[in-house]
Amino acid sequence: MRRAALLLAMLACAAPVRASAVSNPAEAWGAVPTPSPGPTRIIGGPANGCLAGAAMLPPDGVGYEAIRLSRHRNYGHPETIAFVERLGKAAQAAGLPVFYVGDMAQPRGGPMLFGHGSHETGVDVDIWFNLEPKPLLPVSAREEVDLPSMVLPNKMAIDTRRFGERQVQLLRLAASDPRVDRIFVHPAIKRALCDGYGGAAAGGRAWLHKLRPWFGHDEHFHVRLACPADQPECVGQAPVPPGDGCDAVLDSWLKPRPPAPPPLAPAKPRPRPPLPAACRAVLLAK
Ligand SMILES: [Zn+2]
Repeated sequence: MRRAALLLAMLACAAPVRASAVSNPAEAWGAVPTPSPGPTRIIGGPANGCLAGAAMLPPDGVGYEAIRLSRHRNYGHPETIAFVERLGKAAQAAGLPVFYVGDMAQPRGGPMLFGHGSHETGVDVDIWFNLEPKPLLPVSAREEVDLPSMVLPNKMAIDTRRFGERQVQLLRLAASDPRVDRIFVHPAIKRALCDGYGGAAAGGRAWLHKLRPWFGHDEHFHVRLACPADQPECVGQAPVPPGDGCDAVLDSWLKPRPPAPPPLAPAKPRPRPPLPAACRAVLLAK
């Protein structure tokens, strides 16, 4: 308690100098080095919540290697850890090379200073598309690894030199996991899968349902688990619309857009709603 309280006091003291830092709760959430004790408890939703009693993903396991561990974002609900371990084993059984696991959640979840508008409750995990055969690297060598885009520079179609059957297979394995609620991929990737690229339609297209188009997911895909059954305070998203999602909405993501007019004034960061009240005790718990 004392350490977190001290941190908050320091932030408050810094108010006259760095007002923006004080108004950004991510400073405090990013500074807490360990999960809070006690049972796992998800509070709120992926874009506005926190996580008590988080579990840590082991840095490497069968079929996967966690990267960028200096960020301390390798925490989650135990079901998320179990999902990564299941996917690693399934990928290895399918003959796929090791995949890299990127950001999950901070030790107590909550907002992050950079990189994500979600990942706050321990049900999100980023998995990189790089499926080149790779050696087991020491943790210190995993800060800077090759994370190539799977999409052409114009962002309208996949790069077929990089995105192939292996990536399709890994996505299918992830989407087939019953705990997975949805997976975000770049719209060009979803379009290619809808077109049956890389064997995507072999054996049925039902698995495409969970794949949701979202920009920024051309080097990695983002898996979001459904709220675990024992987490009454976990806020889930509206269900994914029925069907495979290979529709006009998907195509609208890939229409060329006219360049945006120059802004009249610098864009202000959007204020975020306050975190659920119960998160304060999670942040301060010792
Ligand atoms: Zn993500």
